[in-house]
Amino acid sequence: MLGTGKLNIILGGAPGSGKGTLSDLIVKKYGLQHLSTGDVLRAEIASGSELGREINDIISLGNLVPDAQMIKLLENYLNGVPADCRGVIFDGFPRTVEQARALTIMLASRQMDAYMLDLFAEEDVIMTRLIRRGQTSGRADDNYETIKKRLKIYNDTTKPISDYYVKLHKYFMINSNINPECTFAQIDVILSQLYK
Ligand code: ATP
Ligand code: MG
Repeated sequence: MLGTGKLNIILGGAPGSGKGTLSDLIVKKYGLQHLSTGDVLRAEIASGSELGREINDIISLGNLVPDAQMIKLLENYLNGVPADCRGVIFDGFPRTVEQARALTIMLASRQMDAYMLDLFAEEDVIMTRLIRRGQTSGRADDNYETIKKRLKIYNDTTKPISDYYVKLHKYFMINSNINPECTFAQIDVILSQLYK
């Protein structure tokens, strides 16, 4: 189980803002463990379970999986993180203020907290990236109508968590419009200070 002295990163940002790509780059340099809730949910779908079928109905419409289910998933994940782990990148969680509050409590009970790095990209950039990804990803939610819906849910429901971390003094804004290298360079400056 995770203990004191870990440094955890929440990668925020809209769908297509680059969370998965940047997670890989951060893992390479800082050796953190990467949790992508989207990947975990897609693995459940691929397993063909009844739960996977329910999740597929939600995700393919671009909707969010209920908070209670996601919080339980996180609790299980945190219980399985090895003791020598330097920290975790949370990619895709929290997505609601309720999830953010629950994460604070789950981390505090393990003597930990987390910093949010919020990736910003303009809507036209995001749309181009996700439509292109849809041509090869096979993801049911990477099509124009569903992307529009996911962006609306992001703006209405997920964006307010930025303010939650601003108020905790644990918030960094990152420009993710240009390319992965430029985005990583900004993150590297921050992490090299936090991981001193
Ligand atoms: P990105 O393109 O940056 O990877 P994304 O929004 O396209 O982000 P995922 O993070 O892979 O994609 O999530 C895919 C879907 O899984 C979401 O649209 C949502 O339905 C579901 N999901 C993932 N994480 C959560 C969460 N924390 N709460 C609720 N639903 C979630
Ligand atoms: Mg992703």
